[in-house]
Amino acid sequence: MTKNQKMENIADVVENCKRCDLYKTRNKPVIGDGSLNADIMLIGEAPGYNEDKQGLPFVGKAGKILDELLDAISLKREDVYIANILKCRPEGNRNPSKDEIDSCSNYLNKQIEIIQPRIIIPLGNFASQFIFEKYGLKYDKISRIHGKKYKIKTIEGEVIIIPMYHPAVATYNPNTKHILNEDFKNIKKSL
Ligand code: URA
Repeated sequence: MTKNQKMENIADVVENCKRCDLYKTRNKPVIGDGSLNADIMLIGEAPGYNEDKQGLPFVGKAGKILDELLDAISLKREDVYIANILKCRPEGNRNPSKDEIDSCSNYLNKQIEIIQPRIIIPLGNFASQFIFEKYGLKYDKISRIHGKKYKIKTIEGEVIIIPMYHPAVATYNPNTKHILNEDFKNIKKSL
């Protein structure tokens, strides 16, 4: 099976998924977007209002900031792959619950297996905590770990994890945009 077929299979299963209640209120599930051969995979939290409407990740305000951050290091969306922990929008953009993360995370795990990224960028607390737990790293506050490189060995080879603040934070705290810009430079240095 090609990477494309494997990702389409995930999309089909998610489309009919009832593992948690979010399917009842969501409009479109958001599987992911970008290159299936990307070296860099960015992982967000969950779809918001605009993502739920369009079925694509990071297309609202946070997405605009993400595009600017990528642009500043000469990367385009097509150069990376972007996915979220949750594929369906929690109403009112509330935080994902532990049950929802547990129900949904296998889809993300499979996406990581398909893409086999060399660099994983979890965006924000939820994604960073999830990725740290997945790879057996000790989690600390995002304010302490952001922008740092964590190297881990997997059966597919070495993977570098660089946790970042969530781009949405920069929409209400402009100082974070500067920190994000500096942290994103570490992605380029790691390639
Ligand atoms: N925030 C996220 O974490 N993911 C999106 O897709 C959009 C906003």
